[in-house]
Amino acid sequence: MARRFWLLGAILLLAAPPADAQDARAVLQAASAAMGADGVRTIQYSGTGWNAAVGQSFNPAQDWPRFEITAYTRTLDYEGRSSREELTRRQGSYLPQGGGGTPLQGEQQQRFYVSGASAWNVQGTTAAPAPAAAEVRQLDIWLSPHGFLKAAMASGSVTATPLMLEGRRLTIVSFTQGKFRINGTITDQNLVERVQTWVPSPVLGDMVYEHRYTDYKDFGSVKFPTVLHSHQGDPRLNPGHNWMEIRVTSVQPNAAVAALAVPDTVRAATVPPVAVESQQLAGGVWRIAGGTHHSVAVEFRDFVAVVEAPQNEARSLAVIAEVRRLIPNKPIRYVVNTHHHFDHSGGLRTYVAESATVVTHQQNREFYEDVLLYPAPRTLEPDRLSTLYPWFAGNRVPGIETVSQKYVVSDGVRTLDLYPVQGLAHANTMLIAYLPTEKILINADLYGPPAPGAQPPAPNASMLALRQNIQRLNLDVAQHVGIHGTVGSHADFMAIVNRPASN
Ligand SMILES: [Zn+2]
Ligand SMILES: [Zn+2]
Repeated sequence: MARRFWLLGAILLLAAPPADAQDARAVLQAASAAMGADGVRTIQYSGTGWNAAVGQSFNPAQDWPRFEITAYTRTLDYEGRSSREELTRRQGSYLPQGGGGTPLQGEQQQRFYVSGASAWNVQGTTAAPAPAAAEVRQLDIWLSPHGFLKAAMASGSVTATPLMLEGRRLTIVSFTQGKFRINGTITDQNLVERVQTWVPSPVLGDMVYEHRYTDYKDFGSVKFPTVLHSHQGDPRLNPGHNWMEIRVTSVQPNAAVAALAVPDTVRAATVPPVAVESQQLAGGVWRIAGGTHHSVAVEFRDFVAVVEAPQNEARSLAVIAEVRRLIPNKPIRYVVNTHHHFDHSGGLRTYVAESATVVTHQQNREFYEDVLLYPAPRTLEPDRLSTLYPWFAGNRVPGIETVSQKYVVSDGVRTLDLYPVQGLAHANTMLIAYLPTEKILINADLYGPPAPGAQPPAPNASMLALRQNIQRLNLDVAQHVGIHGTVGSHADFMAIVNRPASN
């Protein structure tokens, strides 16, 4: 009987409603006092560690590819709503497999800035506007240990939920900032241990964006974590999720930092509209360019195949509109995906919403069925496919065709041949697309033909792999069409790839 009463009490405790805003304020005040947050106007911290290229894994069953950070400094100015993040990185001992700049040659400087609604990167002495990054970079200021407490205190919507986890008494403090829902975990030591939100990703939908703060130390009257470990992506869905880790070696609260001045070119910058420019390559074959990532439309007797759906839905809608203009009255039956990197697969869902079948490397099937095309929440940036949920109730199951050796799209007259690329470090899910009659070879991330008159690129491992695969498959190539870059002759490709690598 006593046991039953004890159980009843435990159930009542578990069922207790979340504490109200009053309790949340008390939790935040205790944490602010413990961490010295009220007195922190700026904070600068330095260390070393690693960061990783989100969405650029070698294959979908692996984590993001990492780079060693040999020097890292971040300066946060809470009153100025600015952040500067400056780091030096190199390949180090991390496995040189995957995209996002892998393998890094020598050392690379990265400089990421945000001030108010303006974001930019600095390369050398040049400020490159990054307007699309501004919202999340500004958000990230308020996900820092002290920034979280300041933003939660200023919020009118804050709540607190007490819970016991592995014997520890924790409080989840939640609030909404703009379109972002933010949850922070505060320990019984009144320290911010974890801050989590979700940001929109064309591939993952509402994507976990999380910092874990551990090994707090005292820096004057301020406590700051000395291990900062960050996630983008959800390991439950996708092994890719470890994004950055910094081991902090020095912290300067209220360092005398000059206000961050926004360059005029950055202040004036806006996200450029999606541009589409098409060019006929052969009868029934068009290259649809205009941005950084291109597509190729191939007309068949009673359907169209599009090679590559890069970036996001906005790009796909513009490319699809251009395909309809060039080839009226034929459905897009196939969309060919060169590889799973997010910048090359982020537009696929739009084609699936148009009833196209995705043709991709066989190693992508599970990831595309369980993640990319899965009807998981897309609350931050709903897309067309998410309005069709639940498609699995009807005959709307998305079609995926996978390629292991050779796949032929044909109408009996024209053929488009798809081959997996072997021996590549960039991705092991890579396809090339070949039009045998037109002798056109389409590739992504292997060889971007340079613009006429431009300095030819130095040969690299991906170009050598392309040459090797052309030989292996005995392809008779006249023209190379890059998903990046332009259109070039095979003679130009061979001249570039046969140069000594040291040039
Ligand atoms: Zn890639
Ligand atoms: Zn690319």
